[in-house]
Amino acid sequence: MAQFDQGFVEKVRSAVDIVDIIGRDIKLTQRGKNFVGLCPFHDEKTASFNVSRENQLYYCFGCGSGGNIFNYLMNARHLSFPEAVQTLAEEVGIPLPNISPRQREQAAKAQQLQELNRLAAQYYYRTLRSNLGEQARNYLVQRAIDERLARHFYIGFAPDSWDGLIRFLQENTELPLELAVEAGLVIKGKNGYYDRFRNRVMFPICDLNQRFIGFGGRIIGSGNPKYLNTPETLLFQKGKSLYGLNWSKDSIKHNDYIVLVEGYTDCISLYAKGVTNTAASLGTAFTEHHARLISRLTENVVFAFDSDSAGMKATERGLSILVDAGLNVKVASLPENQDPDTFARTNSAREVAAWIESAVPYLEYQINTAAAQFDINSLEGKIKAAKEIVSILSKVESAIVRAEYSNYAANLLSIEQDVIIEELRQASGSLEAEEKVGTQSRNSHITSQNRYTIKDLHTKHHDSDFGSDQTEAIEACVMRLVITNPGLIDQMVRIGLDADSFSNADYRYLFNLLQADAWDKQGEATADQLLSEPEPPGNWSEYLQLFRENVWFRSINSIEEKLSLMENHREPDVLLQFCQLLKRYAEVRREIFLVKSKS
Ligand SMILES: [Zn+2]
Repeated sequence: MAQFDQGFVEKVRSAVDIVDIIGRDIKLTQRGKNFVGLCPFHDEKTASFNVSRENQLYYCFGCGSGGNIFNYLMNARHLSFPEAVQTLAEEVGIPLPNISPRQREQAAKAQQLQELNRLAAQYYYRTLRSNLGEQARNYLVQRAIDERLARHFYIGFAPDSWDGLIRFLQENTELPLELAVEAGLVIKGKNGYYDRFRNRVMFPICDLNQRFIGFGGRIIGSGNPKYLNTPETLLFQKGKSLYGLNWSKDSIKHNDYIVLVEGYTDCISLYAKGVTNTAASLGTAFTEHHARLISRLTENVVFAFDSDSAGMKATERGLSILVDAGLNVKVASLPENQDPDTFARTNSAREVAAWIESAVPYLEYQINTAAAQFDINSLEGKIKAAKEIVSILSKVESAIVRAEYSNYAANLLSIEQDVIIEELRQASGSLEAEEKVGTQSRNSHITSQNRYTIKDLHTKHHDSDFGSDQTEAIEACVMRLVITNPGLIDQMVRIGLDADSFSNADYRYLFNLLQADAWDKQGEATADQLLSEPEPPGNWSEYLQLFRENVWFRSINSIEEKLSLMENHREPDVLLQFCQLLKRYAEVRREIFLVKSKS
């Protein structure tokens, strides 16, 4: 995906009218200066979705979604920021900038590979429903996959033949077989070309735009390997794709969580029992790309799996990646010898729903798993379990969360919470000591202004009375974390934050650069400065909360100022904007209150 500089983004933004674009999706009626309609993001009968032509913004009083035209496209069509810019540019006919001949060539090739995948999907689909597909159809019946399900997931069959697909492609396209090799459909051997997938039930894998990018094939009967995926190609990288997401994205948005499983059949069986917000990893641990893909749709993940699944360590690393990317991860595990596929097939929809409901936060799951390794009824087992749990908790950044779970662990082991806290204190004490030795000299120039910890930030401002020092410190923490983890940008944009949310001009500039995936001297200087400070001690979501609160506080301040200047002729638009901000402010305050009241 191409990246765009801010100039191009502005050019596209100013070339369209938000009222026209949104007006194509929903019916808008003019009311005063604004346009109103039924919100596309929540169910409603009376219109609370406002679009302002003057400000080129939209806002829904019902569900609080709002932003500019790019936010709208990202939400309505599940696009990333660059995709939203590109889509809009193409719609209004603005040529995309800076496309090198090589990029153009790659784009053309990607289209050809897509065409070949589309034809292959068609071939497999037809073959399953032909005479050749009888054995495969029987297999699907055994797996409780009826024709309705098979159609929904576009399931097909690759017959036990060396050139079935090859002949179909030759009859239906001019594209050379060499390209089918690049698409991973055909293999070139010593004696010529042959089909990669033979005697396999075929599960097509699509991108979010419903284009076929690869396949997973399950052998019929015995044979190896049992599962065979399309190899890595220009279109298909398993670290960047999730099976089923194209079919489940709307349900994921609607339910505001995703159920992640490990296999196609898990995904399909859960779908059959009404869990339609499901997607599967393709035999790989979760990656940062997966996290970004998911965070476009929701922040909430339930990972459903069998506890004795192979490679649990790798899975746990993958889950940590999702957690680090700011997603709320819960785990719904199953007793040994059960997998989600079998469980879903042999239980009622209600039982399946109850199982998903029973998911526990990832940290709680880790603590439970640690405790289960030992006999916690014996003193020795208790000590060992406590040590293990302390090592898990010492990695948790938020003091609030640490306190909550040390309480949980103490109950689990039936010991005093003080014991865990003391162990934690010792563990973190020794960690800090190690850190000090390493970083003391390097960071001796740190200004006191940048030394705010989360605790300072909470206590030094009372009730939103942010001083400029606090603003600077919060922005520095947020920017510092964004530099080392640009994946957080999408998350910020999704909740309506952008470069303009920063009061510091250097950070605004740097944020724009990072968002456009660009780089220059000025940005580098700002980044260097920030990176020379120690890593902020709090966790991302806490900083993000404070940052949001700070942004709204400043906005409201400036609007209050505006309002006081025109006391006698308050324009409805300004009032509307003020109400919007006030409402969002109240929401953020409520969230923060919830976080604080937990401690
Ligand atoms: Zn709404």
